[in-house]
Amino acid sequence: PPDVEALGRSTWTLLHSIAATYPKEPSSTQKSDLKTFLGAFSRLYPCWVCAEDFQSYMATQQIAVGSRDEFGKWLCEAHNAVNTKLGKSTFDCSKWEERWRTGWKD
Ligand code: FAD
Repeated sequence: PPDVEALGRSTWTLLHSIAATYPKEPSSTQKSDLKTFLGAFSRLYPCWVCAEDFQSYMATQQIAVGSRDEFGKWLCEAHNAVNTKLGKSTFDCSKWEERWRTGWKD
């Protein structure tokens, strides 16, 4: 089975990078692509316990696909839910773009 930690880090990089490049004003096709992608992702993610919990999360917190900002914040909150479950500290979601799009100095 895959290394759950390395898989997680690479996957969060992919997901937050998708948020960072998602349009500010997405078309209806782009919105439905994002929903379809994340729905399939939550069923195919190759850490089964992670996938199950992520599906439950998505069932209660409807994915926000209306804009880059909405999706970026939604994803940040979803990532924070996993951080909390794993006993990690949470991330300040006002800084998600700084971390994943515009970059910061450190
Ligand atoms: P990661 O959590 O991988 O984060 C990588 C980087 O993202 C951090 O260094 C930080 O700079 C940034 N970051 C952190 N939080 C946020 C945030 N809220 N928003 C934006 N950026 C942020 N592991 C399990 O053991 N059990 C699970 O059930 C589980 N479920 C998962 C579900 C999903 C959908 C994914 C993608 C991963 C899951 N993982 C799970 C893996 C876990 O989330 C971590 O990826 C892994 O533990 C490695 O953690 P890390 O401390 O290196 O940082």
